[in-house]
Amino acid sequence: MSFKDFQFHPKVYAGITACGYTSPTPIQKEAIQPILDGRDILGLAQTGTGKTAAFVLPLLQRLLNGPRKKVRALIVAPTRELAEQIHENIGQMAVKTGLRSAVVYGGVGKQPQISRIRAGAEIIVACPGRLLDLLSGKTFNLKAVEVLVLDEADHMFDKGFLPDIKRIIKQLPRDRQSLVFSATMPKEIRHLAEDILRKPVTVQVNHTQPAPTISHVLFQVSNTKKSALLKNILAEREMTSTLVFTRTKHKAKSLALLLQKAGFSATSLQGNLSQSNRQRAMDGFRDGTFKILVATDIAARGIDVRNISHVINFDMPDTAETYTHRTGRTGRATRSGIAFTFANYDDSKMLTLIERNLGKKMARERVPDFTNDENKQVDEVKRGNFSTQRRKKNKPISAKRGTKRSQSSSFDFGVGKSNPR
Ligand code: AMP
Repeated sequence: MSFKDFQFHPKVYAGITACGYTSPTPIQKEAIQPILDGRDILGLAQTGTGKTAAFVLPLLQRLLNGPRKKVRALIVAPTRELAEQIHENIGQMAVKTGLRSAVVYGGVGKQPQISRIRAGAEIIVACPGRLLDLLSGKTFNLKAVEVLVLDEADHMFDKGFLPDIKRIIKQLPRDRQSLVFSATMPKEIRHLAEDILRKPVTVQVNHTQPAPTISHVLFQVSNTKKSALLKNILAEREMTSTLVFTRTKHKAKSLALLLQKAGFSATSLQGNLSQSNRQRAMDGFRDGTFKILVATDIAARGIDVRNISHVINFDMPDTAETYTHRTGRTGRATRSGIAFTFANYDDSKMLTLIERNLGKKMARERVPDFTNDENKQVDEVKRGNFSTQRRKKNKPISAKRGTKRSQSSSFDFGVGKSNPR
């Protein structure tokens, strides 16, 4: 099957060419035609499958005919980063159509967003909170919306946005096309979908399976050795662009500082940053200014940065699904990628769940031996207080402590060995 089979208008087809897409991905093969036919869709697809183009292309085709300078399509997304990314994708795909999108999310000024909508956007890509805020100010309305897209619906539910979504939907015309995309289908999303979709076509693409283009590698390593291992991997392997995941915001920040101090081109992305700093970190990572982005799970969903060669789970994800989302940041569409996971003894249960979901064991790699010096820094990151100045002022960290901890660093889970702690 080729994109030609959908008989897109030449102006839409030009967008496909501009993006460099040659053939449709599986979700596009399944979803585009029913959306073009005006059907409602329940799309079960993880990120990285090409789902954005699956709904944007038919949307553009529809909007080519009909009035301009009216908000005719609403796309709701759970995070600012995802909203911004969808908006940018639309910009590329709509390049010859004359159709415009505006993005709406909190943390930045309202006025530029309002001005852009008033200047005549046909598509709004929005996060729920700011959208409701603008709607309550009556700066514009959604009465002309023909198509609603809810992207990453399960993530919206996780973030407690369902009541907001319901309030937004009340402001839309009843007669519309609705598309719901979700990587998983908790019962709350199923109910929402039943409420808002009319005779939907369900399209499903490997919704809980990690993308097949990714290699999965496991390091069994204690917390005390993780930073040394990370630096070793970053220094020794060929990595164009690496996304490192930590469990806490604090750790993301301190680990990025540690990597900078060690001479790596790194920055962090976590929820404590202002929107402008979040944007700066994302932009710097995207344009290659930073080769390494250390992030919490806010970066795990939806974020599309081309050419991420490696994802490193510095801390184990909390669920097998989060593993899929995190590792889905590499191996996007047809590219291949590598996911390294650092797991300690306590992570063995989660590891089993993840490997069950993967349908195979991850490849095991040995942790090299590190010097005590490296272990000292590890302790700093673990305490989350890494700072050059503080290290100079404070007493040096006991080498004995580092050495002792490092002895329990590399082990195999469960197979006839006692708990090393
Ligand atoms: P998404 O799942 O929408 O975030 O898309 C993941 C990545 O796949 C993005 O980098 C898209 O630009 C890319 N992509 C989407 N459709 C195609 C296609 N037909 N061929 C190649 N890459 C694609």
